[in-house]
Parts: sequence; C-alpha cells; structure tokens
Amino acid sequence: MKLLEYEAKRVFSDYRIPVPKGVLIREPGEIEAHLSEFGDAVVLKAQVDVGGRGKAGGVLVVDSASAVDRARELFSREIRGVPVREILVEERLEIEHEYYLSIAVDRSTRQPVVLFGDTGGVEIERTAQEDGSAIRRAVVSPLLREVPAFLMRELLGSAPRDIAPVINSLYRVFQERDAMLAEINPLVTTPDGVYAADAKLIIDDNALGRQGIEVNRDLSEREREAGRHGFSYVELDGTIGVIGNGAGLTMSTIDLIDYYRGRAANFLDVGGGADRERVMHAVRLVAGLPSVKVILVNLLGGITRCDEVAHGIIATDVGVPVIVRMAGTNEEEGRRLLAEHGYRMVDSMEAAVRAALEAGE
Ligand code: GDP
Ligand code: MN
Repeated sequence: MKLLEYEAKRVFSDYRIPVPKGVLIREPGEIEAHLSEFGDAVVLKAQVDVGGRGKAGGVLVVDSASAVDRARELFSREIRGVPVREILVEERLEIEHEYYLSIAVDRSTRQPVVLFGDTGGVEIERTAQEDGSAIRRAVVSPLLREVPAFLMRELLGSAPRDIAPVINSLYRVFQERDAMLAEINPLVTTPDGVYAADAKLIIDDNALGRQGIEVNRDLSEREREAGRHGFSYVELDGTIGVIGNGAGLTMSTIDLIDYYRGRAANFLDVGGGADRERVMHAVRLVAGLPSVKVILVNLLGGITRCDEVAHGIIATDVGVPVIVRMAGTNEEEGRRLLAEHGYRMVDSMEAAVRAALEAGE
C-alpha cells in the first residue's frame, strides 16, 4: 500500500530525516492561520496518488500573499483525473541541487538495493534511460543495520557527505516499516542542509497488520460493498462490466474481451450457487460504476441455476444493455425467461464478447 507524501514524510521525520516544515489542509482558508510560520513563498503540494504529479501541475511554488487563492484553484482541479482533497503546504526550500535516492527490493539477489543519482527531480526516468551510469546501486544485506562504509562511498561518489546519514535512516525505515519501496526524489541540498523535498513509501500489503495500517483503507465504497456481499470485485478502466462465476471463468472472460480489443470496466465473481437476490446485488453493483456502458454476464450453471440468474437479471432494470451467456442447469428455462423479457442470450463466449463490444460502442 502506498502512503501519501505527507504520511511518508511523517514516518521519515520519525527517523530523523529532515523534511520541510509543513501543514496539511483540506480548505484553502486553513492556510491563513499558518502563514506566519512560513516565509514570503510557500509550496502547495496536492496529496494525490499519481506519478508525475509535479509535471501535471500538482506542485506549485507561490507567493504567500496569493497562497489562499492558488490553493482554492488547486482544490478545484484534478491531477491526472484524481480530485485534490488535501494539500500539503510547505516552506519553500532554497534548493541548490536535487539528488535521487531510493531503496527497493532487488529481485535477483532478494535483498534491499539502494539507488542513488546525482541528478534527481521530475526528469529522473529520462535521465536514467539516457545515461545508465547516472544512478549508482548497492545491494545491502538485510542482516546489516546500516549501509557499510565502502558501499556508501561508492553510492555517494562526489555528493556531499551529509547525505550519508539520510541514506542510513531511509534504510532503517525500509527495514523496520516493511517497505517495498522507500524513495526521496528529490533529496535536496540547501544552505540549511539536506532535506527530503518529496517522499514515497510503499508498505508490503502482507505486513499491514504488523504495521497497524487498516487493510481496506484504499477501497472505494463500491469495493467495500462487494466485500460485504462476499463478491470478488475489481475495477479497471474500460467500458464493459463483467459478471462471472468462479475466478477461472471470470478471468477468461476478461482475457477474451482483451483478445477482441475491448476493455473491461470492472469484474465481479458471484461465486457458486448464486440465487436471484445475489444476482440482483451483483448487477446493480457492476452497473453502478459510471464508466460501465454494457454488462456481460457469463455463467456456468452447476449449483447455480440459470433460471434463478435470469429472474435476478430481469428484476434489475439497470439502464444499460445486459448480454447473457449461460450454460448448464435449467439453461432452457433461463433462456425462455430472458427472451420473454427482451434480453439477449448468446450461446458461445466468443459471440457474447463480440455482442458486448458492439453494444458498448
Ligand atoms: P512529484 O512530481 O510528485 O515527484 O513532486 P515533487 O514533490 O518531487 O516536486 C516536484 C518538483 O518541484 C521538485 O523536483 C522540485 O524541483 C520542485 N519543488 C518541490 N518542493 C520544492 C520547494 O520547497 N522549493 C522549490 N524551489 N522547489 C520545490
Ligand atoms: Mn518527486
């Protein structure tokens, strides 16, 4: 699970990594009470979980006098499609140089790897691609409490020595907080010393219990509701809503949609033996996602009875086309019921997927 910047900075700060003075706000007016703590300029940073936030306009350096207005503007915007609900207001740093620092898991050696680059900031991907030697790396045994001096020297090169304690602190964060990734980009030098200007921390999902982090905190209301009904439910970015029974059938439905160059909006596995009530909940839930333009129901009747499913679909009038492919127990009765109510039942999976693609255009 990825923490937001301000959460990651709190953790870093607990480990004595210097972070800029800052305050989290949810309304533009909240800045006023804090302006005296900052100088004549502040940095407004949208707390949204998207890559390339700075480039997308989510990080603004503004005059303190216009900070409230600029914050109001930022709150009204979306950064790469994500609405801004929280802004981290920070003192403006007098940046002399931006470095790149990151700790991840090296999959080949199965050990932590520290990455350090002399030119960090928003262009890091390009820098790394153009010059393979721009970022130095050191694999550190997880048995060690800090980065050994000889590796530290190799990592830093000619960068200032006072970065070394930050690297060791981040290494401790990585180990003790069960991180998959701990990153500071940029790590900056200023006349007042070294600061983590940005912060990224991804915690291993398997360690959330041990870390005292609520497992479901990033779920949407729809995902929570699916959980309450015991459905497996996942949201994607296409237009076809998919309902299946069993992980295998549901996943192969998604694969087939992909094969025909379609995109699923979401998929829901109703599980075995779904009665009409469960089917109604499933259809309403899937249709509730605004991007769903058509629903594709692909079910195998075993303990699930096709006539029960048909009753469930018929009882749910959701306002988007529903295309059904069912086979198995009471298939003929299901087909008859659906046809009677103007629903389209298709015999093969391929034909059903193609029909969904047509209906969703
Ligand atoms: P990201 O795009 O989400 O990685 O956002 P960052 O927090 O890394 O900020 C993007 C860029 O904004 C940084 O690389 C800096 O150049 C600049 N920036 C961030 N904070 C400050 C600050 O306090 N002072 C100044 N002058 N620039 C900043
Ligand atoms: Mn950054």
